[in-house]
Amino acid sequence: DTEEVMKVKVDPDLCTSCELCVGDHPELFEMKDDVAVAITEEVSADMEAAARDAADNCPAGAIIVE
Ligand code: SF4
Repeated sequence: DTEEVMKVKVDPDLCTSCELCVGDHPELFEMKDDVAVAITEEVSADMEAAARDAADNCPAGAIIVE
């Protein structure tokens, strides 16, 4: 079984600090030094939908899920 763990990160050069992701998904993102950061890079299976949602909704396209 080679299950891939989803990873999420924020590109600090693209983030406009709108705080949308932090407001919608405080379990996944926090503000640090005026940009959003992923609280944990590895996303547990039950948080994958939330991570995708955050990436889809980020107005700057700064959230990368892979
Ligand atoms: Fe930054 Fe996007 Fe989060 Fe807004 S939604 S704070 S631009 S990562």
